[in-house]
Amino acid sequence: MKAKLIAIVLLLQFFSCDVEPLKESFPDQSSDSKSTMPIYNSNNINLNPIYDYQGNFMGTDNQGFEGEVLFMDKNIFRILGGYNNGTDNSKKGGIPHQVALHYGLKLHELAKDGISQSESDMINNAITHIVGQTKSPGFRLDDLHNGQTSTNYSWLDNANPANSVFTSSNEGERLGFNKDEIPVSVNGNKMTFNLISTMWTSKGQFTVNNIQNASIHEGQGHIVNHVPGTGKEHAKAYEMQMSHSTWSGTTKEWKAKVTEGYLQQLRD
Ligand SMILES: [Zn+2]
Repeated sequence: MKAKLIAIVLLLQFFSCDVEPLKESFPDQSSDSKSTMPIYNSNNINLNPIYDYQGNFMGTDNQGFEGEVLFMDKNIFRILGGYNNGTDNSKKGGIPHQVALHYGLKLHELAKDGISQSESDMINNAITHIVGQTKSPGFRLDDLHNGQTSTNYSWLDNANPANSVFTSSNEGERLGFNKDEIPVSVNGNKMTFNLISTMWTSKGQFTVNNIQNASIHEGQGHIVNHVPGTGKEHAKAYEMQMSHSTWSGTTKEWKAKVTEGYLQQLRD
């Protein structure tokens, strides 16, 4: 017990000396700003839901169920003051946002050295949970293969094929190796998140709103309403996601990519 206490004290000391310099590197941007949180901007991309290493939802930081997804050790979550506050944004979690960012693992960090099968399962559980929290989705998780989303990660090392990585959860389908353009695909009722896509693995893109918005295109568009995947008809799936409430909270990179795709369908 004593050893445990010492460990916690050491952890907290580490945490406090670690966070202080961080604050200094983000000085108050303007002296007349009334905001006490100059670090954060208003486009929501930094706010975090937190999952354990199995992909079970644990709670959020003190900003709520939005923004970039974080993975964190269960014990660290508890020690930092985390508790399950649900996904209702009126009940913010106990961990300060900057601390959660420091201790949480993000997809772009995970993906640097490929994604293992256990990481793929963890990520897929989190995605399934996030998709299941979408408001007015126009489809149900039960409409999906085994009631879950799927993931695929296919990376071919051309120079040394033995180093290639191929992992898949809930029978997620391979779009081809090194296909980094397409974020999600649908085949029948299988909704596969393509984890090699830079739409997910670029810094700051693996967010609640981006994930939920993608699921509208695929779930409401292709799976439930059978919108065809090519030609002018395909534009309808884009219109569904762009008129959904999650759209305004997506990242600017996401909006640009989806808008580009939409315009492309209209031209086809
Ligand atoms: Zn589509």
